[in-house]
Amino acid sequence: LRPWDAVWFGQPFRTPAIKPFSEVAQLEQGASSIFKRVDPQLSDYYETMIRDHCLDLGNRKNKAPGGYCTFLNVTKRPFIFMNAVGLQDDVDTLLHESGHAFHAFESAQLPYIQQQMVPMEFAEVASMAMELLASPYLGEAGFYTYAQLARARVEHLESNISFWVYMAVVDAYQHWVYENIDAAADPAQCDAKWIELMKRYIPDVDYTGFEKEHMLLRHTQLHIFQAPFYYVEYGLAQLGAMQIWANALNDQAGAVSAYRKALSLGYTVPLPKLYETAGAKFTFDKDTLRRVVTLAEQVINELEPIN
Ligand SMILES: [Zn+2]
Repeated sequence: LRPWDAVWFGQPFRTPAIKPFSEVAQLEQGASSIFKRVDPQLSDYYETMIRDHCLDLGNRKNKAPGGYCTFLNVTKRPFIFMNAVGLQDDVDTLLHESGHAFHAFESAQLPYIQQQMVPMEFAEVASMAMELLASPYLGEAGFYTYAQLARARVEHLESNISFWVYMAVVDAYQHWVYENIDAAADPAQCDAKWIELMKRYIPDVDYTGFEKEHMLLRHTQLHIFQAPFYYVEYGLAQLGAMQIWANALNDQAGAVSAYRKALSLGYTVPLPKLYETAGAKFTFDKDTLRRVVTLAEQVINELEPIN
């Protein structure tokens, strides 16, 4: 593979982007019809957000960039802020941020704010799992044709799998930096280490002729510069999310109910207990990875002929 063949850093080269909606109201309503099928209570939460004006989804002139879910402590409502412009990414972002919002609803009954401060390793399980729990119902939202739907789901699963190897590069690089502080103060040695790790974890993408670009990828990874050892959390959370998704493929109602129960605990129990309650293992071991990657590959294979 050449870099432009690899899908792990966005769209495949020269593939026109899917345009799932043109008006923000379509995005809002589309998500509403998805959540109705995921779970009645989660759907009620989402409708409450619409009613209470807790969604600011569309891009407009002078609006601050970014997308996030925040929590309003007095009204006990989550608030989703984003800049939708009609892309597939916007659909994924709304589903993701809604997962955070549902976490806020479920844990809002806890008496102390500190109990709602869930660490990243589980907070992102709530959001990443929602992207996956919603994925079987994406077709109901009117965003995609059948072929586009298959492509959107394949891209989502492929990027989930390939994210782990990239996460491994970033994490291993940070370990090297903090274990070798003298070498890590020398940009040339940093570049060499980065390339070594990219070749170790992502050996199948051939950057011949683009060595400089390959090396410069590390400059775009802000976590390395701003948040020591912060990146592995996404990988852990994604493994949790994919275990919940695997449960849902067997028993949607049971998986969602365990997910909601875990969200309602906030941070009143340790991480392994949060995962366990959600029906997952807090782990990064071979067996669990193999199980969910095999499942993702099966679903990709089922979807791919349609593409
Ligand atoms: Zn998130």
